[in-house]
Amino acid sequence: MQKEKLYGKTLNELIAITKRVKLPGFAAKQIADWLYKKEIQTIGEMTNLSKKMRELLSNDYEIGLSAPVNMTTSSDGTKKYLFNVLNDKYIETAYIPDDDRATICVSSQAGCKMGCIFCMTGRQGFQGNLSSNEILNQFRSLPEFRSLTNMVYMGMGEPLDNINEVLKSLDIMTNEWGYGWSPTRITVSTVGLTGSIREFLENSRCHLAVSLHSPFDDERRKLMPVQRTNTVEEVIDIIRNFDFNSQRRVSFEYILFKGINDTPRHVKELARILNGIKCRINIIRFHHIPESIYFSPDDRTIINFKEALNAKGILATIRASRGEDIGAACGLLSTLEQNKNKKV
Ligand code: SF4
Repeated sequence: MQKEKLYGKTLNELIAITKRVKLPGFAAKQIADWLYKKEIQTIGEMTNLSKKMRELLSNDYEIGLSAPVNMTTSSDGTKKYLFNVLNDKYIETAYIPDDDRATICVSSQAGCKMGCIFCMTGRQGFQGNLSSNEILNQFRSLPEFRSLTNMVYMGMGEPLDNINEVLKSLDIMTNEWGYGWSPTRITVSTVGLTGSIREFLENSRCHLAVSLHSPFDDERRKLMPVQRTNTVEEVIDIIRNFDFNSQRRVSFEYILFKGINDTPRHVKELARILNGIKCRINIIRFHHIPESIYFSPDDRTIINFKEALNAKGILATIRASRGEDIGAACGLLSTLEQNKNKKV
């Protein structure tokens, strides 16, 4: 029988486990300490628990860490790791070093339901939600784990479509009994699921990034089917009415597609719909994916777009492209791996 994994459990879940296996209540905090503050691989290493307690725990539980199965390195230092999840699925995790920062980009689902037209992960369809264990294992089992300074939930999947496990993982990352990271080091990105966005805002203090890509309803529907049921107007309304503290940041991700969403008309409408919201727009160059009809505009157009937004009073930045020589577009590597395995 497969044992349940302890890594990825919140303190409350650990308390429930200690009750179930009849360990004293204080053991839960000790176990959390071993899981999130010390780098152990086995229950046997929890030396401040008695031998009997470790045996009781080991009957049904294991730590549950798993190393990446593959890695590619870009000439710019970015690395992409592949992890095996849900038995036979693959997810990608990116490690992005940048001067004194080192960011990990984690996946929250295998595949994705959202079907964004420009996304390789969207083409895979939905294969399953990752558990908090599988989300945080990407962090803990990264060889560069100790050097990480920031974390973004911008890998495969829609985090707010797996909100319970994502919130659990954020709980572990930001609580004093867990990794104790400041929430300002973590950003969760969403296409804007209106049902879950408020839950996320109320139950976490981490930054929010919303994938916008067009301020126009008909255009956004073509790019992102989610717009049919969760309009960006509703998302902006929720954000406008939420009381953000001064530390918390809201940003809008905007992938530029040549001739589609890069015109002065778009700048004007963006300025109109974001009027009065303290936010920034992250302009992202489109990384072409096979058989896509979309392309990135040239550098001059991208800079002009940013400057036009700045001139309208909107803080806009251009995100540096990273890992272009190793398939920067999210979902490319895992798709290759899955196709390879189908052929064997
Ligand atoms: S862009 Fe994000 S939400 Fe859209 S299909 Fe890709 S992974 Fe899913």
